[in-house]
Amino acid sequence: MRIATLSIGDELILGQVTDTNAGTIARALLDQGLRLQRHLTVGDNELDIMDAINDLGGANDVVIVTGGLGPTLDDLTAHAAARATGRRLVLNEEARDHVRAMSGKLASLIVCPLNDKQALIPDKSTLIPNRIGTACGFHLICNGCFMFFLPGVPSEMIPMLHESVVPFLLERATKRPHISFMHFNLFGPCEAEVDDLLTGIARPDLGLYLGICVTFPWMRITLRAEAVSDAAADELLAPAVRTVRERLESYIFSEGAETMDEALAAMFRKSGLTLALAESCSGGMIAKRITDVAGSSAYFLESAVTYSNAAKERLLGVPVALLEEKGAVSSECAEAMARGVCRAAGSDLGLAVTGIAGPDGGSPEKPVGTVFIALATQDGCRSERFQFHGSRDEVRIITAWTALDWLRRYLSGAQ
Ligand code: ATP
Ligand code: MG
Repeated sequence: MRIATLSIGDELILGQVTDTNAGTIARALLDQGLRLQRHLTVGDNELDIMDAINDLGGANDVVIVTGGLGPTLDDLTAHAAARATGRRLVLNEEARDHVRAMSGKLASLIVCPLNDKQALIPDKSTLIPNRIGTACGFHLICNGCFMFFLPGVPSEMIPMLHESVVPFLLERATKRPHISFMHFNLFGPCEAEVDDLLTGIARPDLGLYLGICVTFPWMRITLRAEAVSDAAADELLAPAVRTVRERLESYIFSEGAETMDEALAAMFRKSGLTLALAESCSGGMIAKRITDVAGSSAYFLESAVTYSNAAKERLLGVPVALLEEKGAVSSECAEAMARGVCRAAGSDLGLAVTGIAGPDGGSPEKPVGTVFIALATQDGCRSERFQFHGSRDEVRIITAWTALDWLRRYLSGAQ
């Protein structure tokens, strides 16, 4: 079954609104073993919409269209659909009743001729109910192609997709493959390195696919197996999952939907260890991420955002002489901060970061992006120098990620 999607809206082609419908539909279909062939976006222009409907309708079995079903003058989809498929636009009683009933419910709307416009749909179409908003969707068949027209607003489109479109397609798509997925979440290596490490794992000829998706500063590897049954898909997936785990072991911080923060929280709960933080250039970002996870009070004691030298000295006991001699951005200072916060908080672990986030403050010896991270444990204290790149925000984000990854590695006994 060849399936295409079409997003309609000037705001989409002008870059004012990001098209999330295309991805939402693609993922919802893929979860059911239905793969999208093509996606197109056009503006609120009737001829462009007609062209797109004709092109996609001629080359696919199913076209799912979103946007332009509303009551305003720039909502042209129903009209364009009628013209493209050679139908008249007729007033649909059911749609009119729906618009009126919904308008009554949505206090901000009043029924006016503009809203009745939403009840005009192409002849010989089936209405697709909309529980949330006024614009009904509709479905028609043109030259053997199933066409679905849904509103653009995601909160309206999504239930209609799941309640009407997906069940309709599943009834007709008899030769759907069964799909098994596995996601691995990685931090640390660059894309090319990962690509190298994964050589030979994908076997599209057997229905085994591999995707790399980079979302700064982490990445997700997805394995997808397609087969004739759930069992066969699982069987195809299992050895590839083992290989990915073996090859990328040290970089994988979680599998599936678990985030770095959640993975770390689970490790802390298991370890029974407590943590205190001393943050300089990260300004509290690490503490924020740790406390984003409910229940973190079980292991997280406190964080000191010690931005000035005076604060490093007063709250963490970093010696003035050390600050003067080595500077606040140094391994010595990071270690003194980590030990100091550990001592002050009475925690098992003390983690400290100090660095230059930029854009100013760099020097030839310590350019912008220089960051020292230190971890004090019962076995001593160690630190490392990093050279990050990017904007101030990026340097701070990657600093926080690196610090959390350090903790993760320590707790997993990897280092
Ligand atoms: P309405 O009754 O709200 O007018 P509609 O079908 O006419 O419904 P549009 O006018 O095309 O929908 O879009 C309404 C709003 O929905 C847009 O301003 C935008 O915020 C959002 N929207 C539309 N299409 C998309 C899309 N593809 N992805 C994400 N958001 C979208
Ligand atoms: Mg609209």
